[in-house]
Amino acid sequence: MKSAAPKVASEVSRQGESSAFGGETYGKDIRSEIERLRQEIRDHDYRYYVLAEPVVSDFEYDQLMKKLAELESKFPELVTPDSPTQRVGGEPTKEFPQIRHPVQMLSLSNTYNEDELRDFDKRVRTLLDGEKYEYVSELKFDGVALRLVYENGLLALAATRGDGEMGDNITANVKTIRSIPLKLNLRGETSKFANVEVRGEVYMNRDGFQRMNREREEGGEKTFANPRNATAGTLKLQDPKEVAKRPLRFFAYYLLSNDAVLNSQWENLQLLRKLGLPVSEQARLCKNIDQVIDATRYWEKERDNLPFEIDGNVVKVNSLRQQETLGAVAKSPRWAIAYKFAARQAQTLLKDITLQVGRIGTITPVAELEPVFLAGSTISRATLHNEDYIREKDVRVGDTVVVEKSGDVIPAIAGFVAEKRPKGVKPFKFLHKCPSCGGPIIRLEGEAAYYCENYECPAQVRGRIEHFAARRAMDIDGMGEAVVDQLVNTGLMKSIVDIYELHKHRSELEELERWGAKSVDNLLNAVERSKSRPFSKLLFAIGIRHVGERTAQLLAEHFQSMDKLMKASVEELQFVSDIGPTIAESIYRFFQDKRNRGLVEKLRTAGLRFEEEVKRKEGKLSGQTFVLTGALSKFTRDEAKEIIESLGGKVTASVSKNTTYIVVGEDPGSKYDKALKLKIPVLTEEGFLKFVGRNK
Ligand code: NAD
Repeated sequence: MKSAAPKVASEVSRQGESSAFGGETYGKDIRSEIERLRQEIRDHDYRYYVLAEPVVSDFEYDQLMKKLAELESKFPELVTPDSPTQRVGGEPTKEFPQIRHPVQMLSLSNTYNEDELRDFDKRVRTLLDGEKYEYVSELKFDGVALRLVYENGLLALAATRGDGEMGDNITANVKTIRSIPLKLNLRGETSKFANVEVRGEVYMNRDGFQRMNREREEGGEKTFANPRNATAGTLKLQDPKEVAKRPLRFFAYYLLSNDAVLNSQWENLQLLRKLGLPVSEQARLCKNIDQVIDATRYWEKERDNLPFEIDGNVVKVNSLRQQETLGAVAKSPRWAIAYKFAARQAQTLLKDITLQVGRIGTITPVAELEPVFLAGSTISRATLHNEDYIREKDVRVGDTVVVEKSGDVIPAIAGFVAEKRPKGVKPFKFLHKCPSCGGPIIRLEGEAAYYCENYECPAQVRGRIEHFAARRAMDIDGMGEAVVDQLVNTGLMKSIVDIYELHKHRSELEELERWGAKSVDNLLNAVERSKSRPFSKLLFAIGIRHVGERTAQLLAEHFQSMDKLMKASVEELQFVSDIGPTIAESIYRFFQDKRNRGLVEKLRTAGLRFEEEVKRKEGKLSGQTFVLTGALSKFTRDEAKEIIESLGGKVTASVSKNTTYIVVGEDPGSKYDKALKLKIPVLTEEGFLKFVGRNK
């Protein structure tokens, strides 16, 4: 039997409150408690579904929902159709065209304990009136639900669940997900499934997610708390090019067809696989609820050995006829239930809250914890995100806090333990000056974080130098965190360029604590060696916001020199494949800033490499520029790019008069129109393959 998860403060206080309306009569108190719960849940829904930035754990959220459902079942006359218990939680955004789902996309009722799974089984047995039945136990992927419509075997539409009735049409974004076939595999027994609806979950593997977060951090961008938030945030992007760069994947788990008879969930999973859709290997056909419980216990233990996050198991009655008999209530089917794993939590002391200043000035509060072991690692620090988050959680130095990993790769502070709060602990006061330089800090409208605007702020200076010297950037051996700290504190370095002036301070360096002639030699040699690092590494090292390693490489290949890059307009920057308006704007602004131009000039004087040595392959496409557009089905964009580049050609993102050919897949958009206007020759996918002499 599962042990109940530890209670966090919000839950504890709520239980205390419930005694206030314990009687059977109700008045203003019950109404206002119900309304308060609904409002709180709606706020969390907005943060979770729309902003993809939840502030409470799923467990806490589900407790609020349970409380509301209990109150509503006690006072059914107070149930309203717009109550969160009656509606699927999400909502369509206003940024995409809206799509109505002909068959509603429901949520699932959920439970955190085995007794309730057995209750679910009893209900199924009663409602099926003695019939035999089986279950399919599937993993509950912690991602975002997606509906795909295939017409004549081709992917015609992709939509989010939204509020269950209306979702966002995100077809362009979804077409960039490699594991979703644009064309179904229709052969033999699957040939009658050319027109189907498929549902499933978009998600990210843990390693892809971590890689992406690392790149974002390096580019000075905000990181995501977990793969689910990253997936939800990515699907909402307006630029499919950006989406294509993110490691999204898909698992199908539901099939609908108007043309052919379907019998069972188990058979549907096999059919989906034959149609070419990715289906998880881990589903099990179970003869009874005991086998289901075995499977859930197994996966709760094994979840960390999967490459992706799951937050439970989904149990479904196998026969589709029986599913129909069972039907649905409010927002969930009666033939399925989600058994959710308890969040992995631990309690520990919050020793301090410190403020960290990043290299672009963002100020992040960090929880300094008494080290505690949780789900495979020892945790001594956890982010508290921002001022609002601390206020919302009301965590105070001296509290025993609940640290949680629930589908979260990065641990989070879920709350504090009310009964362990010592007397006299005070709410945390956010400093309104930079903890590093003492200068004023600002909070931009609409943003949660504070920034220190002082470019000379020692913490930022240290951050920029550390980033510059890092292995993946200029690779200056020996210039790690401690050395940078020491050199900044002693005033020997105030900026990146001072690295290349260090040789003038040899004797001062030798005098420093822990230094001697040999170590100074080593450092100065490493500095000298860094001068021959490739241009792309230098571009990454100078720390332009949004420019990670990959983007720096693309920029270097495209512009080939610092001077050309510095002169590029926002529009020209977007010619580089994979660079959208946000990144282009950020690069442009970086080079408009006088301080940065000064820095670049000094680096030039120091003798760093300002040109990319590209040995472009010579071939039959030398000097030719291609643009790819629309949904490609014969090859992926990367494959086409590889072919073109291997023959000496170039691929750019936008059409201009310099474009030689445009290669067009299905549903081409504005690029195609522009190409027609500029009279640029158009190649179909087949035409392209012939042109480059490939038969695929
Ligand atoms: P849910 O996530 O509990 O379950 C339904 C969803 O499960 C489906 O829509 C589908 O996307 C997914 N799913 C994954 N694997 C599946 C499979 N094999 N078969 C079928 N479905 C599968 O329900 P929900 O309505 O999407 O979200 C509600 C839940 O989200 C809440 O219970 C809560 O845990 C969480 N939530 C949290 C917050 C917060 O602030 N922390 C806010 C809102 C919702």
